[in-house]
Amino acid sequence: MAYLGLKSITKHFGAVNAVDYIDLEIFSGELVSFLGPSGCGKTTLLRLIAGLETSDGGQIFLGSRDITEVPTHQRDIGMVFQSLALFPHMTVGENIAYALRIQRVPKSQQEKQVDELLELVCLPGVKSRRISQLSGGQQQRVAIARALARHPKLLLLDEPFSALDAKLREAMQLELRLLQQRLGITTILVTHDQQEAMTISDRVVVMNEGKIRQVGKPLEIYRHPTDPFVADFIGTNNLLRGVVCNETAIEVEGVLFTGWQLGDRFSSGQQVSIGVRPEDVTVVPGQPSGRNCIPGTVTFIRDIGSSVKIHLDCRGRKVVSTVLPKARPRLAQGDTVTASFSANSCIILQ
Ligand code: ATP
Repeated sequence: MAYLGLKSITKHFGAVNAVDYIDLEIFSGELVSFLGPSGCGKTTLLRLIAGLETSDGGQIFLGSRDITEVPTHQRDIGMVFQSLALFPHMTVGENIAYALRIQRVPKSQQEKQVDELLELVCLPGVKSRRISQLSGGQQQRVAIARALARHPKLLLLDEPFSALDAKLREAMQLELRLLQQRLGITTILVTHDQQEAMTISDRVVVMNEGKIRQVGKPLEIYRHPTDPFVADFIGTNNLLRGVVCNETAIEVEGVLFTGWQLGDRFSSGQQVSIGVRPEDVTVVPGQPSGRNCIPGTVTFIRDIGSSVKIHLDCRGRKVVSTVLPKARPRLAQGDTVTASFSANSCIILQ
């Protein structure tokens, strides 16, 4: 049974459908990310779950309890905002104790609990420092400790790492994931960073224009997008045009590609989109010969040390191939090349 259940949750701001009849189930102990472009409704959905917005329709369940009308402070939810919302004039200890005071934890127990929470987020010894005397990563940990002080049933995080530099963000993502697994706390993370969502989530909810486009495990979403928006949004995907010839052949950008196993899912003459990941595209110098090959020209090569990205123009369509530096073909900008990929590495979208 779902731990958090959303049933037809809706929220409009004037003419904008910020959250459009969303149904979702989140299970106990899961870390689920809401991922999507700016304005897709991720924060609004999180705020509805927190009770910081009132929905126009639908229901929210936490466990077996209908919390749709329950005020925020009675929802057993801990939140960390992008801004962290720490009190700069208070010490670290006072910031965390504030959350304990609100819960009416007796003063005699507050100090011990503050120490335990700081231990939990690997921040011993900073209790009497002011917030301004901490690094960005340390402030993150204080915000998480304060959110956990309430022993919440659900932890909600709204872009908590977006202000950190890339290296620290990666370290904090890992730290959060390990802490979340250790505590087994059901967590929702709002992010527009695909790598962040892919790295630390059990499941990713991809949203666009107030709607859920796909829910799945990170690799499932990456390898088997069921929707053209998801295929395009997650990672880089080469989206090519195709026309189905028969059960085993598709004409892709005017070239016959064979080896498909389409069964009766598609009919002859049907127009489809073919998604191919850059790591599945092979590029070799020279003109194509044989099937399953498209001619192209190298427009740009980007070598960042850990990988090489080869940008091609294939019959007017942009195609990207990624290879490891060791496997880099001898190519230069402007060269004529052949791009190929196997049918079983592609996804076909209607
Ligand atoms: P971002 O990643 O930029 O934070 P988001 O996916 O979290 O975006 P939301 O903040 O949920 O998106 O906004 C969804 C839509 O609702 C947007 O079109 C936004 O402009 C609109 N919106 C959000 N809050 C309000 C508000 N208080 N008043 C009016 N419109 C709002």
